[in-house]
Amino acid sequence: MANCPKCNAKLKKVEAMVFCENYKPIKNDKGEWINEGSCDFRIMFKNKIFGTLSPDDVRKMLAGEFVENKKGDKIFLDMSSPFFTRIEFAPKEEPEDF
Ligand SMILES: [Zn+2]
Repeated sequence: MANCPKCNAKLKKVEAMVFCENYKPIKNDKGEWINEGSCDFRIMFKNKIFGTLSPDDVRKMLAGEFVENKKGDKIFLDMSSPFFTRIEFAPKEEPEDF
């Protein structure tokens, strides 16, 4: 069990994400998601750029560690990002003469 790095409340998990118990997204009349809660911390398991994160990956990130994918990209927890994650891309491979 981990606590929210933003407000220290309990973190919860559903299929799509880990989120703070004070994060309460609801759909408004226009079908847009708005947050009715006092905290917006959440990490989605499906990251379009990095790939899929597991619950253990998110635990690692919350502990201050990073997670690396097959390409060598690294993902970190980043409280200043709207998605609470930061990706460090692996250096591009230098082409060699063939
Ligand atoms: Zn929170």
